Amino acid sequence: MAISGHVDPVPLPRAPLARSDGRADVVGLSKAELRAALEAAGMEPRQAKLRAKQIWHWVYNRGVTEFRLMTDIAKAQHSWLEERFVVGRPEVVTAQVSTDGTRKWLLRSPDGNDYEMVFIPDADRGTLCVSSQVGCTLNCRFCHTGTMRLVRNLEAGEIVGQVLLARDALGEWPSSPDGRLLTNIVMMGMGEPLYNFDNVKGAMAVVMDGDGLALSKRRITLSTSGVVPMMARAGEEIGVNLAVSLHAVRKEVRDEIVPLNRKYGIEELLEACAAYPGANNARRITFEYVMLRDKNDSDADARELVRLIRHYRLPAKVNLIPFNPWPGAPYECSSPERVKRFSDIIFEGGISAPVRTPRGRDIMAACGQLKSAAEKKSRAELDRLAAEKQEALG
Ligand code: SAH
Ligand code: SF4
Repeated sequence: MAISGHVDPVPLPRAPLARSDGRADVVGLSKAELRAALEAAGMEPRQAKLRAKQIWHWVYNRGVTEFRLMTDIAKAQHSWLEERFVVGRPEVVTAQVSTDGTRKWLLRSPDGNDYEMVFIPDADRGTLCVSSQVGCTLNCRFCHTGTMRLVRNLEAGEIVGQVLLARDALGEWPSSPDGRLLTNIVMMGMGEPLYNFDNVKGAMAVVMDGDGLALSKRRITLSTSGVVPMMARAGEEIGVNLAVSLHAVRKEVRDEIVPLNRKYGIEELLEACAAYPGANNARRITFEYVMLRDKNDSDADARELVRLIRHYRLPAKVNLIPFNPWPGAPYECSSPERVKRFSDIIFEGGISAPVRTPRGRDIMAACGQLKSAAEKKSRAELDRLAAEKQEALG
C-alpha cells in the first residue's frame, strides 16, 4: 500500500559538515574522534590524546568556547588549534520566554537550516526538549513539524550544541550536579530520533559521559513514533528511557494519524516495547497519547488501551497530551471532561495516566507546534502570492 509522505530514513553521511572557513567543530565528537581529528591535523599521537582529554574538560565542564582560555594547554598551541578547529554553538535566530517561564529558541545551522529547542522549568526539574532533525519525514496528521517540507538530520554536534547553548543561556557553567536548572533531556523536539540513529547515539554518549555533560541515562527520554526495527538497538546502544507515540489503539485510526503505522502496526510496536531492553517496573515505558476530539478519545478506546498494555504485560505509564492546535490543523482537542474521563478509565485499570499541562502556548512552544520561522515565512509568502494571483485574475 502506498504510504503518504516519506517513511525511509534520511541518508546522511556521518562526516562533519564543512564550515565555510574550513575549520572543524569539536562539539559532539567522542574523545577518540577528537583525538583522531587532532592527529589527522598533524598533532603527535600522545600529545593528541592528552589534548583531547583537556579540550573535553573545558568544553563540557566549563562551557569554554575559546581555545585561548584553555589554560592548561600550551599558549603556542592555542593559535594552532584556533586555525583548525572551533568550539561551536548553534546560531540563535530568536529566543523567546513564555509567561510560564518556558523558553524557546529558533536555531540555525551553518547551511541555513532552522530547528527549535524548548526549555521547560518545573519546581523540581528543568527539561530541555531537543530536536533530532530539521523537520520530519513522517507526516503525522496532527503534528506541525510533520508539515515541514525540508528535512535534514542534525549532526551529533548540533544535538549536543543545543544542550551546551541551553547551559550558556541558563548560566550553568561550570557545571555542577547540584542545583542545576537543566536536569532532564527529552528527544521530543523536531524530528524522529530513530531515523537519525547514529547522530542521536553519538550525541547522547557525550551527554551521558561522566567527563562530558554527565547526565544520567535515567534523566533522558527518547520519543519515537514507532520505528520498530530500531527500538531494540536504541535500548541496547543508547540505553535511555523510551517514550512511544501511540496515540491510537485501532488500526484505522492510527493509520490515519500516524502514517508510519501502515508500515509497523500496533501489535508489532507493542511487542517491540515488551522486548525493550531495560524496561521494568522501575523504568517504565511512557505511551504518549494525544487527545483528539471524536477521533481517539472514547471510553472504548481507553479500555482498549488498558487491555493492550495488560496483554503485552508492559511496564507502562500513559501520558495524555491535550492536542495543541496550529493554523490549519485538521483536528480539535478533546474537551477537558473527556480527557478527565479517559484518564480515569486508565487509572481504574491500574495504570498511571496523568494529563500533560501544555507549556509555552503563548510562544508556540508546546508539543507538536514546533516549526521553523523560515517555513512559516515561506507559507506566508505563498499565501501572499496566492492572494496576488487571485487579484490578477480579478
Ligand atoms: N518524532 C517523535 C518525537 C517528536 S514529537 C515522536 O513522534 O514521538 C514529540 C511528541 O509530541 C509526540 O508524542 C508527538 O506525537 C507529540 N505531538 C506532535 N504534535 C502535537 C500536537 N499538535 N499536540 C500535542 N502533541 C503533539
Ligand atoms: Fe515526526 Fe513525531 Fe511529528 Fe510524527 S509526531 S511528524 S514522528 S515529529
